[in-house]
Amino acid sequence: MARAPGPYFERPPKITVSYTQSCNLSCKHCYADCTRTPSPRELGREEWLRFIDYLVANDFIQVYFEGGEPLQRADFREVLRYCGRRLMTWVRTNGTLVTAVTAREFRRFGVGTVLVDVMGAHAKTHDWFTGAPGSFKKACTAVKHFLDVGIPTYMLIILNRRNAAEINEYLELAARLGAPKVGILRLYPIGRAKRRWDELSMSLEDQTKVIAGLRVPDGLRIMQSWHPRDHNCCWQGAAVNAYGDSIGCVYLREYVRYGNIREMPFLETWKHPLYQQLRSGRVKESCSGCHSTQGTHGGCRSTAYAFHGRWDAPDPFCTTLNHGVDLRELPERLLQKDAGSTDPAGA
Ligand code: SF4
Ligand code: SF4
Repeated sequence: MARAPGPYFERPPKITVSYTQSCNLSCKHCYADCTRTPSPRELGREEWLRFIDYLVANDFIQVYFEGGEPLQRADFREVLRYCGRRLMTWVRTNGTLVTAVTAREFRRFGVGTVLVDVMGAHAKTHDWFTGAPGSFKKACTAVKHFLDVGIPTYMLIILNRRNAAEINEYLELAARLGAPKVGILRLYPIGRAKRRWDELSMSLEDQTKVIAGLRVPDGLRIMQSWHPRDHNCCWQGAAVNAYGDSIGCVYLREYVRYGNIREMPFLETWKHPLYQQLRSGRVKESCSGCHSTQGTHGGCRSTAYAFHGRWDAPDPFCTTLNHGVDLRELPERLLQKDAGSTDPAGA
């Protein structure tokens, strides 16, 4: 398949693994729409261990575990121990199952970086999202536990109407806890966030004002995905969900299936025509400012597809490419059950 000029991998160097679709919390915005207990259909411990062997054998460099909450599954530690010193290993967690002992274990296993989701600057805000009183305190304590053992630990917040007003207090909190970096992430219309879109979503103008008004404490680094950092990072995207489906990126989880690693080697799924198309970076329109950040065009493919229903559409989260799309209004098709295209031929 012809591809646009730009970065290109014969095979991906890093991959995201959604270890489980279960979680001990019940967040109102949960993209994974988690259940409390893992489904028996999820890949088992042995399957994950074999997959780690496969990644190592095929020259992958990095694995990024997320969920659900990976620590919700008792076998996660074993998988982590198995891969921590063979691959550069990152873990995203809600922090509530983390103790000082867990942090020391992660350190021993060779975990390189941890990301902890904290959804607001105050317990009231965070605990509203999670539905679990005390979860804010536990998440902040987890950040400290990981930092105490010397693991670089970032805090992640998904910007939305409920927490926008306290974003600068959030940055102060991160600085107080000692986190070196905060990721301010956009809200994606997937999972439970989609069903609460009216309550959580913000106009692009309001989002842009929040980003422009950030007061970043000295020494704290910020990662954000609005102009001019609106990446089209599909060129390097690789992700496998808890059931072994190759989905390119966790933000594409409701739209694509490139094959299942129970049925074929992961790198066979890498050849899927739609996967190749998304990685090619071929889009109808791009913003030169955002383009310059990664060498690919058009911003995020997940939100472009969500709002326009086309893979080569412009990302409406970019101020230059928005063209009047009201991000507070979701297309009707997204709200229908089984929206999106799990059949790439029909995409
Ligand atoms: S902590 Fe994360 S995985 Fe768990 S319910 Fe909340 S959003 Fe979902
Ligand atoms: S869907 Fe968006 S976030 Fe995911 S890899 Fe593609 S551009 Fe990056």
